[in-house]
Amino acid sequence: MESILVLTHADESGSALTKASLEAVTAGKELAGRLNAELAIGIVAKHATKAASHLAGAAKRVFAVQGDAFAQPRYASDAAACEALWRATQPAIVLAPHSSRFARVMAAVAYRVGGAIDTHVTGLAAAANVEATRWLYRQRVESVVTRDKRPWFLLLDAGTHPAFAAAPFAGEDSLPEEIAITAPLLELRTEVTGIRAPKQGALTIRPDATLLFVAGAGWTKKQPDGQIHTDEAAALILGFLGATGASLGSSKSLVDQGGEGNSVLPFLTHLNQVGQTGATPRHPKGLSTCCHGEEPHVVGWRFIPDRRAISLDPNCGWARGKADVVYVADAFQVIGKLNELLAPKG
Ligand SMILES: Cc1cc2nc3c(=O)[nH]c(=O)nc-3n(C[C@H](O)[C@H](O)[C@H](O)COP(=O)(O)OP(=O)(O)OC[C@H]3O[C@@H](n4cnc5c(N)ncnc54)[C@H](O)[C@@H]3O)c2cc1C
Repeated sequence: MESILVLTHADESGSALTKASLEAVTAGKELAGRLNAELAIGIVAKHATKAASHLAGAAKRVFAVQGDAFAQPRYASDAAACEALWRATQPAIVLAPHSSRFARVMAAVAYRVGGAIDTHVTGLAAAANVEATRWLYRQRVESVVTRDKRPWFLLLDAGTHPAFAAAPFAGEDSLPEEIAITAPLLELRTEVTGIRAPKQGALTIRPDATLLFVAGAGWTKKQPDGQIHTDEAAALILGFLGATGASLGSSKSLVDQGGEGNSVLPFLTHLNQVGQTGATPRHPKGLSTCCHGEEPHVVGWRFIPDRRAISLDPNCGWARGKADVVYVADAFQVIGKLNELLAPKG
């Protein structure tokens, strides 16, 4: 019989599990149900007790590696914690979120315990074997992977499962079983002195947002008055992002423009690029603006089920069946009007 361990980690607060971790818990519960397998959860956090109190009913046993050394992501401490959690439970299948924190260490953990690993898993099934689904060749080919080797580590892409939610439970039973890690397993040579990150307001990539707002090169092109209006475009886009909390994507043409010395939107980088040579984000809805909707761009929308586009061109790629709704209109006017409607009243 297979046994399953879900590895999770806390967010910046140190005491709450990340959304992607809670999604992995849901995936673990579903898989354990299908396989009739035993499920355990492992937590890596500064304070695991509070994190564990939100896992009521999720698994038979909850283990934790906790303390100051596990407050921040660091290769040595995270790898040691995950290895110790595996050794405490010795499961055949390990599920974990494909977060930057765990993606960095999990291949090493799998190697240390003689296992195999697959990454970017988007779905799990259990028939005769456990089957993991992932996309290959820039999300064009979906493959199903099975392996005989155990332990088998599977890193799950965010947004592929609903996050596990349970009312906080403070009883004695909610306390995780703590696993202590000592030297030489925990030999720390790296001290995390702080995090340097862009100011909160400057963050435009928001993986948990309901809406993906995509800006295309049209925003920086000559408009019907013969002029370019980059500053106005920037204000409209940032105003819309501020009012809706949407995540910002871009076409390749727009992010490439900076290199050609053209007028650019200063908050866009190649990290915003959606498409064949960019990202394939997951959001329930997407709104494309001033973008032609060419295939190498639209392939990055594979996981956006509800697609709308605003373009001046009634013959653009979006209009040819790639978007559910196309508004043939001037995006400057439409987004300007939307921002007006979204502005707080009074
Ligand atoms: C190998 C390869 C890989 C690629 N990978 C990617 C990728 O990962 N991602 C990607 O995006 N592209 C990629 N491309 C490029 C892609 O093919 C397109 O060239 C690119 O997506 C076009 O960007 P765009 O639609 O923003 O610009 P344009 O094609 O210039 O379209 C601008 C649009 O804005 C509209 N517009 C202008 N003003 C307004 C207005 N006021 N209101 C409304 N609409 C307006 C115009 O009508 C036009 O349709 C790739 C290409 C190749 C060859």
